[in-house]
Amino acid sequence: MSPQQQSRMRQIARELAQIGYALPGSVVQRSTACGKPGCRCQADPPILHGPYLSWIRKADGKAITRKLTPEQEQQYRSWFDNTRRLHDLVSELQALSVQAIEDAEGWHPRR
Ligand SMILES: [Zn+2]
Repeated sequence: MSPQQQSRMRQIARELAQIGYALPGSVVQRSTACGKPGCRCQADPPILHGPYLSWIRKADGKAITRKLTPEQEQQYRSWFDNTRRLHDLVSELQALSVQAIEDAEGWHPRR
């Protein structure tokens, strides 16, 4: 491992240690139909309710939806941003690790 690789690896580890809360899933805007007969959402053409902010995530293969107020979306936005950052850091750490083992073992078939 080169000194640059080592220092980048330590930097990534420091950032990972400080990441804080990281929410899975995504926040989307959705308009919905309530299903009540005679409601405007049942008209032709339908006038849907919303749009609402929804946080959607998967757990045990099922989609779980929570409505968010704009205030909640603002309050927790950084928790969603942290998940993106977490994925970026993990991807970079993995790429760096691949490079490190290839360098260490002299596995460079395409060079
Ligand atoms: Zn309705």
